[in-house]
Amino acid sequence: MAKIKYCPICLAENISFAVQDAPSWYKTPAEPVLYLDCPNCRKYWINASRKQNGDAAIHPRTANFLVPLSGQERQYLSECVQRLIDQNCWVIIDETSAESYLADWLWGQTSTKLWGFDQVRLMISGGGFDAQNRLFFVIDDNGVRRYVLRLIVSTAKPNQIRTLIDWMGRLRAAGVPTMTPVPGLNGSLIQTAQMGDQTRQAVVFNWIDAVDWDDHPEDRITPELVRNFGRAVGLTHHVSATMDIPAWYTGRHYDEKCFAEYMTTLKSRAHAEYTAEQFAVFDDLEQRLLKAMATLGKSRDVYGIIPADLSAGNTIVHGAQPYIVDMMNFGWGYFLADLQKALRHIKDEDQPTFFAAYEEVRPLPKGFDPCYKLFDETRRIAGHWF
Ligand SMILES: [Zn+2]
Repeated sequence: MAKIKYCPICLAENISFAVQDAPSWYKTPAEPVLYLDCPNCRKYWINASRKQNGDAAIHPRTANFLVPLSGQERQYLSECVQRLIDQNCWVIIDETSAESYLADWLWGQTSTKLWGFDQVRLMISGGGFDAQNRLFFVIDDNGVRRYVLRLIVSTAKPNQIRTLIDWMGRLRAAGVPTMTPVPGLNGSLIQTAQMGDQTRQAVVFNWIDAVDWDDHPEDRITPELVRNFGRAVGLTHHVSATMDIPAWYTGRHYDEKCFAEYMTTLKSRAHAEYTAEQFAVFDDLEQRLLKAMATLGKSRDVYGIIPADLSAGNTIVHGAQPYIVDMMNFGWGYFLADLQKALRHIKDEDQPTFFAAYEEVRPLPKGFDPCYKLFDETRRIAGHWF
């Protein structure tokens, strides 16, 4: 591999690189990218361009953006790159992505002042997956993680995050293990940070000392853990089905309209890629699920506020206790569809344990058989429609 003098992000010296073609999804696929191998940032891609002599070099726009960065900014950006690599995200660092990371970081720092945090450092949690609503670990000067800070996307309606925080409070009161928000200096759980004429909402939660379900050793997915998860999901649905819903609650709906829109987009994309037979499979599936949704209806025992993304990545584990931590995609939807997502990370042989725990709290939603299988089939064939 060829060498460059130093990593443009962390300034580590004598870095190996290879020139590659940019992938087709990248904004300038005709241009090359550099694949750098840095001892700190790991192996990552950076935007490049061809020089007149035919050699490839870091794109001048990207290089110029990175030149004046401070040591703190470089450390933060390097951590972002490491998280991206850890999470198998294929991102090409350029001036746009670097600026977006740094802008959110600045918002994060401005927000922490509203909680009176002093001498804290912010580390990005998910480099790629939380681009909408950035999540930061708040680390004290001893290097200990104390809180997580959620920076809400600027386009979020104020009542949307208020709905989520209020609903999470009801879940906690009912015994669902989830995150506990920390009030800011003015006592409010949701703070509004301001920079210039722009504002962003932010929420801080207490740190939970746990690991991602995904990273939890397989042999420690005990029956007790599966039972606790089944109970937590059951309680979540029970609260949603029985609570008095304040008139100001708001959120998206994962209903037949949302599904039909998803399928329209999928099929318009699929035209070029799939055969007529595969296309017919989509059509058949769409008709069957829409019919099933119409039959299920939207009574409160089948349709209500759900976390909507109960995947393993949004569940963390401490001992035998699972915590449902990321509910930013919450909305109104079918409890059956929520169950389908929850059960994706429960092995087949553990599912009876999960269901038994769920049913100790509330009966399985009406229409479970055969609609559950249909939600599952839809996910497998058409992907995640919500
Ligand atoms: Zn580096």
